[in-house]
Amino acid sequence: MATLLDISQPHLHVPTTPFRNEPLTDFGNAENARKMKAALTKVRAELGREYDMVIGEKLIKTKEKIKSVNPAKPSEVVGVFQSAGREHVEPAIAAAQQAFETWKRTSVEQRASLLHTVAGILRERKFEFAAWMVFEVGKNWAEADADIAETIDFAEFYAREALRLAQAKTPTQLPGEADRLIYIPLGVAAVIPPWNFPCAIMAGMTMAAIVTGNTVVMKPSHDSPAIAAKFFEVLQEAGMPDGVVNFCPGSGSTFGAGLVEHPLTRFVAFTGSKEVGLDINQRAAKPQPGQKWIKRTILEMGGKDSIIVADDANLDAAVEGVAQAAFGFQGQKCSACSRAIVDEKIYDVFLERLKDRVAKITVGDPTENKPMGPVVNEKAMKSILDYIEVGKKEGRLIHGGGRAKEAGDGYFIQPTVIADIPPMARISQEEIFGPVLAVIKARNFEDALAIANNTEFGLTGAVYSTSRDKLERARTDFHVGNLYFNRKCTGAMVGAHPFGGFNMSGTDSKAGGPDYLLLFTQAKSVAEKIGDAGPVEDSMNRKGEESR
Ligand code: NAD
Repeated sequence: MATLLDISQPHLHVPTTPFRNEPLTDFGNAENARKMKAALTKVRAELGREYDMVIGEKLIKTKEKIKSVNPAKPSEVVGVFQSAGREHVEPAIAAAQQAFETWKRTSVEQRASLLHTVAGILRERKFEFAAWMVFEVGKNWAEADADIAETIDFAEFYAREALRLAQAKTPTQLPGEADRLIYIPLGVAAVIPPWNFPCAIMAGMTMAAIVTGNTVVMKPSHDSPAIAAKFFEVLQEAGMPDGVVNFCPGSGSTFGAGLVEHPLTRFVAFTGSKEVGLDINQRAAKPQPGQKWIKRTILEMGGKDSIIVADDANLDAAVEGVAQAAFGFQGQKCSACSRAIVDEKIYDVFLERLKDRVAKITVGDPTENKPMGPVVNEKAMKSILDYIEVGKKEGRLIHGGGRAKEAGDGYFIQPTVIADIPPMARISQEEIFGPVLAVIKARNFEDALAIANNTEFGLTGAVYSTSRDKLERARTDFHVGNLYFNRKCTGAMVGAHPFGGFNMSGTDSKAGGPDYLLLFTQAKSVAEKIGDAGPVEDSMNRKGEESR
């Protein structure tokens, strides 16, 4: 097991160059395709292995197991995992709390170095990580590659951000004082990620927590524990001390809720559905006996994202952007376009072209890199198919409308487009999280903006228009955390597009942005009297001027 890194050791390698996004892999290149096939073969040979739960230095087995399966072939077991229950909450938090006492005293350079090392290892094993995502959640090659690239970006970006934060300048220095604002860690974090960016979000929240000096109990999603286990192995290989991150797959409603409620949990970093996020918010708000703080919650939740296509849009670009944003990774992105709001002047021609474009999307096994793979599990498939039936009654089916049985016995659903959806219809308002696009007719741009803002969510959105006036109007009035012009509403890049939504989409934490790490710290002001300048301020003699 790893021991604590010594900051005096020369092997610390702190990033010194400016941050740059990890390039995406071109699978049109024969050599890259060959590497991906080799990685798929390697990972296939490792499927079905059993993994331990890891709390501190202890490897734990439980009676109950979690079986992670390939959604394209549900009979294929990707991995077998222990299932943490309520009884594991106490030891997991205790291990993280114990590790915190040492980890919080490590230097920021040491922690940044850990992330930089993690990035290096992931870069070496990019294809392998992508292959795990292909098997475990059904991403096609490009989607899986983007996920691992984003993970590397988070590691590199947060390493640099932690160093920057440590150098933060205190705005004013009073005469005769050395005034410093320092950002110190909070304590033990419960990190609770979703399955849909099984590497990037899981690793991003975890790395943001530890690079700022916190320790973590990480509870991956039921649907993607293998990728989390692989990432945990990388943290260990990079030299992470025991207990800094504890790897605890388990049920959300028992182990997850127990973590949130524990009095020593200092904060919760969650990404997932609105329902679970709101439940966590409520549980975390209730102080437990012995609890000394108000728990912080960082909650990134669902979306119902729209692309507005104005009457003056470049139609080819708009059709392509809508198709990619609606059906990339089977529509299972919080940023996915689930509503195309189209000006009535171009509505019919847009629909015609969209129908042709969507007809070209093939559905099949992601190991063979088909554009669309399966949805994540049977429950999701049933829920999506139910929504499709609702949608058929609410509007006019243009394409798809059911299972894609020809793709195999996995959870495959056809890309589905339903037009003439009224703005307040259920499939226009509720998050479906699958390959279902509602097309809504707008009277004009004004009307399109009003429709775009008519849900309880506010995550991403896009506008296709060649009019500067329209774009400027949307800049102020389209109320979403991530807004895009003349490009699709998915594919946020670390650094360029800090990510997080408004309203019921979450706390707008802006992952991958300059403010994100502040959420994982608390600021402490330290004022030291220096020199022989005498009393800095004699407030006792200045009646009423003391402020705090
Ligand atoms: P989910 O809410 O079902 O689960 C998320 C995590 O919460 C899982 O690890 C789960 O086990 C855990 N959990 C479940 N019940 C819990 C409880 N009572 N207490 C504590 N933890 C609990 O979401 P999902 O299906 O994994 O992911 C899809 C959702 O995530 C969608 O709504 C999507 O929009 C959202 N999402 C949002 C963002 C964003 O940045 N806003 C990014 C990705 C996904």
